[in-house]
Amino acid sequence: MSALLLSGREAADALLATLKPKVKKLDPKLVVVQVGDDPASASYIRQKFRSCEAVGMRSEHRHLKEDVSLEELMKNVEELNADPDVTGFIVQVPLPAHLQPHVPEIIRVIDPKKDVDGFGAYNLGKMFLSKEFEHLPPATPGGIVALLEHYNISVEGKHVVVVGRSNTVGKPIAVMLLNRNATVTVCHRHTKDLGAVTRQADILITAVGKEKLITADMVKEGVVVIDVGMNKTKDGKLCGDVEFESVSKKASAITPVPGGVGPMTVASLIRNCVRAKERQIER
Ligand code: NAD
Repeated sequence: MSALLLSGREAADALLATLKPKVKKLDPKLVVVQVGDDPASASYIRQKFRSCEAVGMRSEHRHLKEDVSLEELMKNVEELNADPDVTGFIVQVPLPAHLQPHVPEIIRVIDPKKDVDGFGAYNLGKMFLSKEFEHLPPATPGGIVALLEHYNISVEGKHVVVVGRSNTVGKPIAVMLLNRNATVTVCHRHTKDLGAVTRQADILITAVGKEKLITADMVKEGVVVIDVGMNKTKDGKLCGDVEFESVSKKASAITPVPGGVGPMTVASLIRNCVRAKERQIER
C-alpha cells in the first residue's frame, strides 16, 4: 500500500483561509513571549509570526533576556493579562534552566481568557466535559483534530493508539478523540511491549521525541499515522518518531515531518486567538 500524504501545509492553509475574514472583522492581537535564544524556539516563533502575517493578524514579539528573573517574567505576564489590546499570549517553552521548573506557576498566572496555548487548568478542564466545551484546546491536539477533519478521516468507533502522555499533546489528544467517540489507548515509557499495542491501532498518534521509535513491524496494514515527534537526525535534518520510509508502505495515510502536524499547530493557535477574541467581545 502506498500511503496518502496528509499535508499539514495544505490543511493549515485551508484553515487559515477560513480565519482570515474573522481576523479582519475582529482584529485580534497575539503576543509571543520568548526568553533567551533557543534556536528551535526561535524557528517556531518565526513560523507563528509568518502565519499571523498570512491572515493579517496583529502580533508582537516580547523578547526577554536569557537571564531574566522569574519576577520580571511574571511582571510581563501580569501586564499582558491587564492589557485590553492583547487578545492572547503565549510564553514559548522550553524556558532557560532557571525558569523551566516554574512553568506550572507561570501557566497558572496566565488569564484563562487569554491562554491561547490552552495549557492552563481551566481550559484543559473544560475540554474534559465534552467536545462543545473545547473552547481553547491546546494548539497541537486542536491541530491534529483539524487535520483529520480536513482529510475526512473519521475517528468514531476507531481504535486510536496515542504514544506519549504529555499534558500538552498526548493526554489532551486522547481526551479530544474520546469526545469524538474513538476508543483510545494511551501508551508511554512504562508501556510493556509497545508494538503489541500499536499493531492494534486503526489510527496511530505518536508524540514522544524519539527517532525511529515506530517501525513497520509495529503497525498494521492500512493504519493512519499522525507523527507529532520533532527530532534532529545526525545530519541535522528534521524527522518524526516514525520510520517514514517503511511505515508509509503499510499505512493508508501518514503525516510527513516536517510539513505535517507542525503547520497545523500554528494554524490552531491562530484559531484559538480568534476564538478568544470572539468570547471577549461577547462578554
Ligand atoms: P514530552 O517529553 O513531554 O513527552 C514524551 C512522552 O513520550 C512521555 O509521555 C513519555 O512517557 C513518552 N515516551 C518516552 N519514551 C517512550 C518510549 N520508548 N515508548 C513509549 N513512550 C515513550 O514530549 P511532548 O512535549 O509531548 O513532545 C513530544 C514530541 O512531539 C517531541 O518530539 C516534540 O518536539 C514534538 N512536538 C511537536 C509539535 C508540533 O507542532 N509538531 C508540538 C509539540 C511537540
